Amino acid sequence: MAVEQEVTAPENLALAQAPRLVTELPGPLARGVMERDARWTSPSLPRAYPLVPRRGAGSVLEDVDGNRFLDFNAGIAVCSTGHSHPRVVEAVQRQAEDLLHYSGTDFYLPIYSQVCEALDRITPVGGPARSFLTNSGTEAVEAAIKLARHNTGRQYVIGFFGAFHGRSYGSVSLTASKSLYRATFGPLLPGIIHAPFGNRFRPNKPASPEAFDGDYISEVVFKRLVRPDEVAAIVVEPILGEGGYVLPPEGWLRQLRELCTRHGILLVADEVQSGMGRTGRTWAMEHWGVEPDIVLAGKGIASGLPLGAMIAREDLMTWTTGMHGSTYGGNPLSCAAALVTFELIESELAGNAAKVGSALLDGLQALAARHPIIEDVRGLGLMIGVEFPDHDVADAVEKASFRRGLLVLGAGDSAVRMSPPLVVRPDQAETALGIFEGACAEVAAAR
Ligand code: PLP
Repeated sequence: MAVEQEVTAPENLALAQAPRLVTELPGPLARGVMERDARWTSPSLPRAYPLVPRRGAGSVLEDVDGNRFLDFNAGIAVCSTGHSHPRVVEAVQRQAEDLLHYSGTDFYLPIYSQVCEALDRITPVGGPARSFLTNSGTEAVEAAIKLARHNTGRQYVIGFFGAFHGRSYGSVSLTASKSLYRATFGPLLPGIIHAPFGNRFRPNKPASPEAFDGDYISEVVFKRLVRPDEVAAIVVEPILGEGGYVLPPEGWLRQLRELCTRHGILLVADEVQSGMGRTGRTWAMEHWGVEPDIVLAGKGIASGLPLGAMIAREDLMTWTTGMHGSTYGGNPLSCAAALVTFELIESELAGNAAKVGSALLDGLQALAARHPIIEDVRGLGLMIGVEFPDHDVADAVEKASFRRGLLVLGAGDSAVRMSPPLVVRPDQAETALGIFEGACAEVAAAR
């Protein structure tokens, strides 16, 4: 069924009124897409709600029926420069006319090394860096596990409960945010050990964090499970992402750094979600003044084109010719998008994330004071988590927000995350706050 749509030029969409809902949700065209999708796609895909996007600009997303949403997901923290930023689009178009693909693994792509050079400039890892480019976050994690084992000659890797590192075998073995991601797929990669994030067993619940009395890694892992000289790496998300947008306790990342330095263990910061300006700094680790040995990037680094990176201090890149590679990793289109993304983030967008993020955080905290259904509000820059009493409440708020035209996403056991594009404007943050308040009130009234 055809639905009448008001046609808005792409250059105006970013400024258009949003949200603006013109059909029920999902609309008729969206339902058609969903029916076809249900027939042909893998049933493992965990669709959050019936959103069927057609185009986007800035922080505005339009669905196939012409409904406009305020997008506080950014394609799950990916579209850092906003949807289809004109400079990114132009760079990709120009590159597409020149060269779509040539494997940077087997030959020399100028733009591949340009991206690696830029990553060295913007990534503190305690010395000059080299990078291995991938197509995704999970491949960057895999590369780090392999390099850490190779470089140290050790087998064990420590990760944290609540962490998400991806879904390929090495990454999912490190992931410990939901047992569903691991269930029935075992045996997983041997040699992975988990510890509580920030020494807290329930880090998402500030009222009952259930802290381990001491340092779990030194006192339990090293004493009872493995000697520190058998551990290749500790892999940490500076801020838990999929696990609930949880900040580490003050000082804990520095303690991890010291522990790693003392025992010759590599500290790997998985900044796939927290990196690239999202928290107001290029990398979240910078907020705590901690320099890891390896940084993992993905999601926002190429504004929506598939790119990931393992950025390691030069002296750690001891693997030799042919030991690791990728057909597509660092493909020219993604690299072209990345170079513009770096420029935009450095020149204005990290600053905007800090400014608008701080106003959004204040607004949400004021909202929490009025609505007891909100247990906690936390975050840095435009990486903000709102904690609810349980999963069902968080889920209901997420869906009520969608019905009102605001896109947010659940995270962890009982939180909703906000990760808008870094171009989001103060007036859009204000609008989002109003909608979110309405969603919280609706869910509270229905309890
Ligand atoms: N690491 C973190 C912190 C992530 O948030 C994600 C994805 O959500 C990944 C790794 C995996 O990235 P990808 O889905 O691109 O493989």
